[in-house]
Amino acid sequence: MNPEFAKAIQYIKKRSGSDFKKLRDHLDTHNLFIFLLSKKIVGKNLYSTHLEEIFPNKFDNVSFGETIRYLKEEIKKNKKPLVDKWGQETVVDLQTCSVAKLLPLTSVRKVFEHLINNLPSNKSILFDGLPREKEQIPIVIEKGRILSKRGYKVIFLEIDLADEILDARLVSRRVCPQCQYSGSILTPTAEKIAYDQKTRAYVAFCPKCAIPLEYKKGDHQLDQLGKLVQAVYERRKKFKQVSTLLQTQLSAKQYAFLRTDVPCEEFKGEKIELNLIAKYSTNTDGEVIIKRVPQTAIHNERTVYSLAPAGAVVRIIKTLAEVIRR
Ligand SMILES: [Zn+2]
Repeated sequence: MNPEFAKAIQYIKKRSGSDFKKLRDHLDTHNLFIFLLSKKIVGKNLYSTHLEEIFPNKFDNVSFGETIRYLKEEIKKNKKPLVDKWGQETVVDLQTCSVAKLLPLTSVRKVFEHLINNLPSNKSILFDGLPREKEQIPIVIEKGRILSKRGYKVIFLEIDLADEILDARLVSRRVCPQCQYSGSILTPTAEKIAYDQKTRAYVAFCPKCAIPLEYKKGDHQLDQLGKLVQAVYERRKKFKQVSTLLQTQLSAKQYAFLRTDVPCEEFKGEKIELNLIAKYSTNTDGEVIIKRVPQTAIHNERTVYSLAPAGAVVRIIKTLAEVIRR
């Protein structure tokens, strides 16, 4: 295990204290089905990885998107069994769906049914991927009831993070055009950094190919002026509409909300809980100096810190420990 990760795991257990114990004991005798809801790149996957490590053999991470990708591959290999099972129409839906072309509702229902009928036994589930559209809400509510009948405690957990932090993450992603190595100029690890006099910007180089990393295509989503394209904001607005609508249809026992940023003046944790980002400068010899500082942003007119998994997962455990008592 990577030592940073191991340290975060130890820290989370200690800092969560009684909440950690409560949730651990609960997981010994109950199975949770947690719908993780968040805007893109908040960090769901990273949080799930930490939860799986903190509670060994208790959680399984299940993704709707991954299931679709898997089924697309299966169809490529041999589509007959899937046509027999779900019919030609769903198989065509699966073959042709993409980021731009959503899977039609009837097929969403079939895939989700398939997914919940094949859950690993005796484990809690961290589920990601539905609902993305308001039309999908009735499906998750209906299937949520079925999961409850099968003994799961169903929880919808919304995790939010300041848009300014998400923006910074989006525009700092970089990828190697040659080997597809991906990194971030905000949180460089193995990349070499140099100052480009022409563009007056710091540039990261691929640790393997030693060539400059580029913006991630389609993902940095900047317009010609270097601003995030409207589509990013539209997607976030839509997420909020869907989650708000979903919340009105669920009881307080089922819906929980938390943020993974925190107003600076309220923060009482240790530095390990904060996301550090690189601040670049150049010394008189022209060498690039990297200083790591806590990332901050403005949210609701207050300055907030962005929480690292060590800080975020402590809050997730606390929230879950509360929900299971409701
Ligand atoms: Zn490379």
